[in-house]
Amino acid sequence: MPLPKRRHSKQRGRKRRTHYKATIPALTECGNCGEAKMLHHICPSCGFYRGEQILEGKEA
Ligand SMILES: [Zn+2]
Repeated sequence: MPLPKRRHSKQRGRKRRTHYKATIPALTECGNCGEAKMLHHICPSCGFYRGEQILEGKEA
């Protein structure tokens, strides 16, 4: 296995990571209650996903 000859400096690693950016999560409106929800996720406010009740309890 090849090994790096020298350890990179903190500055070098940090400079590389300046291109890493936090992305805004893809939000959409829930088809059941209209609340903002993440795509491909169960609605956190009513527990619906693809027109079906998945989670019980917190019904709108
Ligand atoms: Zn909902």
